[in-house]
Amino acid sequence: MNRMLGQKDEMQFMDQFGRTKRKLRISVTDRCNFKCIYCMPEHPEWMKKNELLSFEALYQFCDFMVQRGIHSIRITGGEPLMRQGVVHFIEQLQGLKKIGLKRVSMTTNAHYLKKYAFALKQAGLDDLNISLDSLDEIQFKQLTQKDLAPVLEGIRAAKIVGLPIKINSVLMKGINDDQILPLARWSIQEKINLRFIEFMPLDGDHKWSNAHVVSEQNILDILKTKFNVTNQMNHSADPARQYLINHHPIGMISTITHSFCGSCDRLRLTAQGEFYNCLFAPQGLKLSTEIKALAFTQASSEVNLHHILSQYIWNKEQGFHAIEQRLKNQTTTTSSRKISMHMLGG
Ligand code: SAM
Ligand code: SF4
Repeated sequence: MNRMLGQKDEMQFMDQFGRTKRKLRISVTDRCNFKCIYCMPEHPEWMKKNELLSFEALYQFCDFMVQRGIHSIRITGGEPLMRQGVVHFIEQLQGLKKIGLKRVSMTTNAHYLKKYAFALKQAGLDDLNISLDSLDEIQFKQLTQKDLAPVLEGIRAAKIVGLPIKINSVLMKGINDDQILPLARWSIQEKINLRFIEFMPLDGDHKWSNAHVVSEQNILDILKTKFNVTNQMNHSADPARQYLINHHPIGMISTITHSFCGSCDRLRLTAQGEFYNCLFAPQGLKLSTEIKALAFTQASSEVNLHHILSQYIWNKEQGFHAIEQRLKNQTTTTSSRKISMHMLGG
């Protein structure tokens, strides 16, 4: 590929609000062995396997994006460990570190992690985000339809091989908000970073309502009953607002009550090659043809894809609340979008 390293600054993607894009999330499959109630639809219609972008095509795309300033790539899903070849893909991505890629990360439900932790470490994975919404076995099964034990074993395996871990916990009012204190205590005991995530309107069956959201303030109020909580000022593009509970770090990803959109440096690609400039964008851009073309007619395909992406990324809206407001103000009935978290990957 044409590296054009000297021109990298000029080629970076920026939106109309001056936010340069640094992070790319790639969902490698929409399939998942879990059925988390805040994510998966009751009757999912999986993408056809022959319509998924190959790892070769995804690699070409990552190369193209790293040349344009992307320095972190997160592999997600569905459940990324369910797609065969994902470990090899992570190993391949290491080659992009010589042209500016700094981190390759993964978000997983950890069910298969015990089996893959060592191979992922060997492949050069830099860190893992693991979803864990309850430490109560019965509640965990109600939330995900799977057992808790393999997840805890997966977390242990990742720690043993030395993979840095963050735990993500989505809270829903009346469902698992009784887990705030148990999860906080467990994270201190295990010396693991925990982030509570406010439930977002991205569930597969569109049943989200504000009444289900456990807000950052609700969480802090509960934590304060048992811990000394202090606020850590955070000026980075990290979406998590940082606190300390008894000197142990804890994060809050509060999209609903304190949206982090102002510093958003993320872009997203689905397994079928649909590109999103925002988690809440009503529509993505179908790019599978353009991405596949990168492997064949390099120079002209790169120019073409760069042109399409620059425009789309430039038009990225201000964020979650601006999009919600615009959709509310529209007089025409806008069909609710078909894409949900299990396709976009968080
Ligand atoms: N299967 C993997 C996992 O669960 O970690 C990766 C994909 S999952 C879609 C990525 C992240 O999105 C998880 O941390 C999950 O908790 C979060 N998520 C899914 N649906 C959500 C929702 N409606 N609101 C907030 N977070 C959500
Ligand atoms: Fe699967 Fe992750 Fe969605 Fe749960 S949050 S259903 S584990 S994709």
